[in-house]
Amino acid sequence: MALRTIFTEEDPILRKTCRPVDEVTDRIRMILDDMVDTMRDAQGVGLAAPQVGIMRRMFVAEPEPEEVYYFVNPEIIAEEGEVEGEEACLSVPELMGNVVRPAKITIRGLGRDGKEQEYTFEGFHARVMCHENDHLNGILYSDKAEKLFRPAEQEEEEAE
Ligand code: ZN
Repeated sequence: MALRTIFTEEDPILRKTCRPVDEVTDRIRMILDDMVDTMRDAQGVGLAAPQVGIMRRMFVAEPEPEEVYYFVNPEIIAEEGEVEGEEACLSVPELMGNVVRPAKITIRGLGRDGKEQEYTFEGFHARVMCHENDHLNGILYSDKAEKLFRPAEQEEEEAE
């Protein structure tokens, strides 16, 4: 396993639409494992393949410690409700923003083992999956947030 370089927002690679993965091979698994290492090293809760320069439809997520999800060729097949919440992104360093996301989603795709999987997520879990899935279509959360702020600035505002 190895750490990979995370591309940041100014890189046009993050604006491209990723292609499906043909088959979950050992090479794909190796990339997924590297992505988990890279995500953890950067203290993120999700990482999509294009963020490390792999233009394929897959992402990893760890919305809670030790709760890792792998999605290859994911598809959000159902959405329900709306909720606003804070997001950040390893490709948009040092900033945060509020984004409206579905309150509940059902997402289908292949797992690390190449088998079909389907999950229904709510709240923060749903938010993380939607954020990562957007990366596969060249969309960043900063496109959807009304404004971005530095976490420290917000703390100052709240202290006033
Ligand atoms: Zn992101």
